[in-house]
Amino acid sequence: MRKKIVAGNWKMNMTPTETKELIAKLKDKCNTDEVDVLFVVPSIDVTTAYECLKGTKIKLGTQNFYFEEKGAYTGEISAKMIIDAGAEYVIIGHSERRGIFKEDDEMINKKLIASHKFGLKPILCCGESLELREKGTYKAFIEGQIKSAFNGIDKNQAVNTVIAYEPIWAIGTGKTATSDEAEEVCKFIRDVIKALYDESVANAIRIQYGGSVNAGNAKEIFSKEDIDGGLVGGASLKEDFINIVHY
Ligand code: PEP
Repeated sequence: MRKKIVAGNWKMNMTPTETKELIAKLKDKCNTDEVDVLFVVPSIDVTTAYECLKGTKIKLGTQNFYFEEKGAYTGEISAKMIIDAGAEYVIIGHSERRGIFKEDDEMINKKLIASHKFGLKPILCCGESLELREKGTYKAFIEGQIKSAFNGIDKNQAVNTVIAYEPIWAIGTGKTATSDEAEEVCKFIRDVIKALYDESVANAIRIQYGGSVNAGNAKEIFSKEDIDGGLVGGASLKEDFINIVHY
């Protein structure tokens, strides 16, 4: 039985001071172990968030890192820094990083390998544009993203990777995939994982849906067989997130 994971991606929002205020509003009501609850905060907020979340079951993640261990990479942060600051998880391959910051499949593969090597738990994002959805080629595209990202990842590492299916046309647009559309792709991704590894890995790996999840649609989406929770952007900054956690 896979445990659901509900993660809030704060994106580039919240100063350290605002982090304290938001966590004070959310933490008691999000403090459950019925699902894994995760706050994915900007790196600058990790230390503050870690202090605020002490004594709760809420897990902490950040949104990016660089795959090298250390060195002359001005402006970047390493896995070791993130772990030392108190976070466990990292998002890799979010469509905003692929699109705005031009991270390609090769970079994403290096980051997935490095996250496991250095002990950060990855949430690997994938998902198609509206153009590919309308053309009908979205599954082949997503299969390519998954195969490329998992190149060099062993079975044990694969089981300990969370995948987030996030159709780009649904992110921050208020336009959610229907629960059937989301389930179709999450099931497809599970089949791709089965072909790459085996049935036990496919059954164990957690696959989230992300894209305009809110308190009104979470229950229907998260109740689907192959959807193991959600990656939530906009609604994770509001008290709405509490209702998503308790969908
Ligand atoms: C996201 O940032 O991963 C996301 C899904 O955003 P939103 O929920 O705002 O669409």
